[in-house]
Amino acid sequence: MRCPYCGGSETQVKDSRPSEDGAAIRRRRVCPDCAGRFTTFERVQLREVVVLKRSGKRVPFDRDKLQRSIDVALRKRAVDPERIERLVSGITRQLESAGEPEVTSEAIGELVMAGLKGLDDVAYVRFASVYKNFREAKDFEDLLGTLSDGTPVSAAGPEADPEPEASGRRRAGRP
Ligand SMILES: [Zn+2]
Repeated sequence: MRCPYCGGSETQVKDSRPSEDGAAIRRRRVCPDCAGRFTTFERVQLREVVVLKRSGKRVPFDRDKLQRSIDVALRKRAVDPERIERLVSGITRQLESAGEPEVTSEAIGELVMAGLKGLDDVAYVRFASVYKNFREAKDFEDLLGTLSDGTPVSAAGPEADPEPEASGRRRAGRP
């Protein structure tokens, strides 16, 4: 496993223990070159899940992206990381075991909302407000991006809208 700090390739495992009720193995690693410390997880992947985005594009499901979008909603909230981990794992497992060839980004959004509802009210409201007001999601571009492929928001959404709007306002503002 390459060191995320210096790129060194000889990192050492310092500690290895079961995590997520035995569904994963958590490893603490240290880099001998820069002394950087980081954690990796080993998990079973039941099958590949394809996400169908609103734009019609298909991308492979990425657990890390799901984790990041949930982390954004939970920013500065005091929630046990272990519970967050369980939520992410739970959603991932539901998707992997659903048996459907692909899953819509909306369906993932619903699962995240249902999970956050039981975890933290503020995070739930944050996520839900973004999810339901897709077009006003400028503050949460990174969050929505994590449910797609990293490009900001949906192709049909704000990405296309702001420019005509802005130029319209500019024209209107001129005497
Ligand atoms: Zn390093």
